[in-house]
Amino acid sequence: MGKLDDKGVVVTGAARGIGRGVAQRLGAEGASVTVADLNAEGAEATAAAIRDAGGKAVGVGCDVGDRGSVRSALDAAVSEFGRLDVLFNNAGIAEIRPLLELSEDEWDRMLAVNLRAVFFVLQAAAKRMRAQAPIAGSELRGKLIQTASIAAYRGGLAYMPHYAASKAGVVSVTRTAAQVLAADRITSNCICPGAVDTPMWKKIDAQWSKIEGWQTGEAWKRRTSFIPLGRPETADDVAGVVSFLASRDSDYMTGQAVNVDGGLVMGN
Ligand code: NAD
Repeated sequence: MGKLDDKGVVVTGAARGIGRGVAQRLGAEGASVTVADLNAEGAEATAAAIRDAGGKAVGVGCDVGDRGSVRSALDAAVSEFGRLDVLFNNAGIAEIRPLLELSEDEWDRMLAVNLRAVFFVLQAAAKRMRAQAPIAGSELRGKLIQTASIAAYRGGLAYMPHYAASKAGVVSVTRTAAQVLAADRITSNCICPGAVDTPMWKKIDAQWSKIEGWQTGEAWKRRTSFIPLGRPETADDVAGVVSFLASRDSDYMTGQAVNVDGGLVMGN
């Protein structure tokens, strides 16, 4: 028996990076995973990897910023696997922009994906969870898990003011949802990763290193050198914590923002 057997899970932003790693872990632990991503081919590739490992998964193309597209992805999850027990609301973007140069369009683009879409995906999932019977073996009807960031607490990355604001907003939405939805027996928590080795960080590194006049790789090297646990974070480091939040073991937790960062938030 896997610890997530029979759980219907939707993971957004799972064609690559953290979402892919988490989707694979949840699939290996028995969850039925709907892999949703703007990159439909990548979503299907992640789903195929889960199936090849003996798990259950479907891949769907989905733009989290488009409510119709989100509705279709959730419909696909429920029609394929019968229920939506857990949402991993993870899709996000990053962009390096100095505070004094950031434009209104750049601000709006960032907040549209990282905060507005996260809120409306949460809302759409919560409406479905509310209408279903409790999860087998649990008093809860559903679990919402967002991906925030340690950037929510401290700018840290001086060149990402809009990103940091969007992630502080994700923590706020997570807590409000926890308060409002507790009566419906739906929990809401978020994770705050540190510096995870994914394509997103490759882009951050390239843009940040260019601004500083450093060689490619230098921004990543400097950022990860402050990690107390002494190595960069992997998607798998995040996956273990998400698996816990998706499982019965965390049923009495709600409204929490869990740092999984090797201690980076205490570093520089
Ligand atoms: P990534 O860029 O490697 O992967 C993000 C995935 O999201 C991609 O597959 C992309 O296609 C998808 N996506 C982007 N916009 C989308 C949209 N509108 N609709 C659907 N899918 C969309 O990023 P990652 O590093 O895996 O980051 C995942 C999440 O973790 C993000 O929310 C990010 O802000 C957060 N995070 C990352 C780090 C890190 O160090 N990498 C740290 C803290 C938080």
